[in-house]
Amino acid sequence: VEAIPPTAEEIAAGRRAHELDRAHVFHSWSAQDTLNPMTILKAAGSEVWDGEGRKFIDLSSQLVNTNIGHQHPRVVAAIHAQAGKLCTVAPQHVNDARSEAARLITELAPEGLNHVFFTNGGADANEHAIRMARLHTGRRKVFSAYRSYHGGTDLAINVTGDPRRVPNDTGDAGVVHFLPAYLYRSYFGSTTEAEETARALKHLEDMIVLEGAANVAAVILESVPGTAGIYAPPAGYLEGVRELTRKHGIMFIADEVMAGFGRTGEWFAFDRWGVTPDLVTFAKGVNSGYVPLGGVVISDDIFDTFRQRVYPGGLTYSGHPLACAAAVATIETMRDERMVENARRLGEEIIRPALEAFREKHPSVGDVRGSGAFWAIELVRDRETREPLAAYGGSSPEMNAVIAEIKAGGVLPFANFNRIHVVPALNIPDELLREALAVIDRALDVADAAVAG
Ligand code: PLP
Repeated sequence: VEAIPPTAEEIAAGRRAHELDRAHVFHSWSAQDTLNPMTILKAAGSEVWDGEGRKFIDLSSQLVNTNIGHQHPRVVAAIHAQAGKLCTVAPQHVNDARSEAARLITELAPEGLNHVFFTNGGADANEHAIRMARLHTGRRKVFSAYRSYHGGTDLAINVTGDPRRVPNDTGDAGVVHFLPAYLYRSYFGSTTEAEETARALKHLEDMIVLEGAANVAAVILESVPGTAGIYAPPAGYLEGVRELTRKHGIMFIADEVMAGFGRTGEWFAFDRWGVTPDLVTFAKGVNSGYVPLGGVVISDDIFDTFRQRVYPGGLTYSGHPLACAAAVATIETMRDERMVENARRLGEEIIRPALEAFREKHPSVGDVRGSGAFWAIELVRDRETREPLAAYGGSSPEMNAVIAEIKAGGVLPFANFNRIHVVPALNIPDELLREALAVIDRALDVADAAVAG
């Protein structure tokens, strides 16, 4: 994609947009007066320009969704072509873009998941997956992990296990939270993966039994938790969850909203462990977020429940033609340009060695972990105690200083609490990725200053 910096006129228009934003736009998850949002005037590939025309390397993929980078010409052209042909149809009609998107998505999914229900994004995908699981099993309770994110709508935020749930907790959502398998901060005192897997699985099964397995409709899990810390489950954990949900007649919902569509170096993150969930939710990477789209991939068993029985759910834009045309073009482009393979290569050849070198060099780096284009750097004040550089659910002057330093170096990071995530597009050019990692390396000196002793 051609990277043409904004003109003086575009910068002037951006300033006006910023004023209007402050006058009229209400932003997510924020106290409105504390904000000074960054304007993005334009973007190309892995680069974006802010309101003053300064260029940044986008290491955030926005909210970890532009897996193919910005403005991929093939996907932009597909959206144009669809817009010229048919912008919208009601969900009850057949549409070629939707049919083809469903075919491609089910082709990527494990065997035995052959239907797709389309939504507008990830939260409503999870809402529908849970509704399907409840109707299919005739049970109500849903189990989900602490340190997870499943979306901002009412049920999805109640299912979520991060601090954003707390002010939204309705107390009657039928959700039970359990402790995740997270070796670096093990809740079970584990020091090895094998211990963590065994203990976390025992904990989950104990809780299911104590809550009454016959009341549990679903266990929902991010295959690799994303915003919560990019902590891949230890070996055997997802397989164990699959086994115990099957044993108790519980539906296993894999939330692949962030981890799916190549992010981890696999099409779906659970492919690495060979598990087959009953329901898979997706959004973001399915079309890189060029047009809002999410959905649920449904097992044949659950599909059978709704052959004769009405599924009581729907939405005006289910399988929107523009969004689905973008998904078709995105999946085809990812295949043709071998982006999933490239993500794996970037992860192993460039990101892992760089992050492991950070851990050697910077005392503030407590842990580095990830795969593909999905990595976290966890910053601590003390490697022994693992005291985070910002409290869980909070920020700190030191974290803010690190983030400011990264931005000053011309890199747009994704940060959460005490972590910096390295989540570039799957096709970021090697030299841009190396340049961005060098900026992070320098910014970590700022974090080192906060380390005890
Ligand atoms: N699930 C996961 C794992 C996510 O990361 C997100 C968004 O970040 C969601 C669900 C919610 O998706 P959306 O914001 O499209 O509703």
